Amino acid sequence: MALGKAGPVKITPLAADSLGARSMATLVETPDVTVLLDPSVRLGPYRYDLPPHPSEKARQKELWQVIRAAAKNAHVLTVSHYHYDHHNPDAPSIFRGKLAFLKDGKFHINRSQRERSGAFVRKLKAYPKAIQVADGNQMDFGGTELLFSPAVPHGYNDELGYVVMTRIAAGREVFVHTSDVEGPPLKEHLSFLIDAQPTVLYVDGPMTHMPENYPEVHTKRALSHLVRILRTTDVRTLIVDHHILRDREWRTRMRSVFEAGAEHDVSVLTAAEFVGKPIDQLEANRDRLYGIEAPSPKGISGAGPSEG
Ligand SMILES: [Zn+2]
Ligand SMILES: [Zn+2]
Repeated sequence: MALGKAGPVKITPLAADSLGARSMATLVETPDVTVLLDPSVRLGPYRYDLPPHPSEKARQKELWQVIRAAAKNAHVLTVSHYHYDHHNPDAPSIFRGKLAFLKDGKFHINRSQRERSGAFVRKLKAYPKAIQVADGNQMDFGGTELLFSPAVPHGYNDELGYVVMTRIAAGREVFVHTSDVEGPPLKEHLSFLIDAQPTVLYVDGPMTHMPENYPEVHTKRALSHLVRILRTTDVRTLIVDHHILRDREWRTRMRSVFEAGAEHDVSVLTAAEFVGKPIDQLEANRDRLYGIEAPSPKGISGAGPSEG
């Protein structure tokens, strides 16, 4: 790739919970390089004790076609961790001829993801042009810098393993994608994000739909960290999606963040709104898709254990 002069960074969330299925797949185009982050999309296995509705399955297929098409034009594909909504072991050929940055499969990883990582790399075979460990890695493409955080916990502890955050900077624009930090609830998530100085930040938000697995204290910390980022960095756009969009009451729960956004002139919006589409929380509304209404305003009813 030629040494490009610093220019605009085009960010396109391709699939997301606000677009109807679990994903944070995002295409980032700079004058120097096109990067596709976390190319996969999945459905929550059980919600309100209900399996995915046919309309969710149809949406997942549509969104996967969008990701697959975007992969054709990307130079770099990345995998932040080995949950199936972030990597798709059924379609290794999308990595053909690409530079792949993959979460380290040996260090800072839990057992289930270590096994999946090994299986995934075996499936990738010779498709990628090259495979690099993402954790703490960095590469320049002309005027664009691609950088990954060290492995950080998937949530408020490392029970679900670790993820890497991604920072892509070109000129004055800096895009940061947190992947599944679930908030961010931890100081180490926050330090990376503050140091990264994003202008556009994409976070997955706290898991407020599963209070039995994600205690309120972590939601409070995550929200106060987001408010701190809005107050102390030059961020202009905060995309909130993924875990937080599994909660129908997400706007109410994020009130402090919306208020800080208004105060500091930061737009706070979902991936769907960012790409000019209506919010369509199919998983959060699965009960209604089946023509019933779950009784709980706190989302306690049967949000069963799940990854993602
Ligand atoms: Zn996820
Ligand atoms: Zn995950």
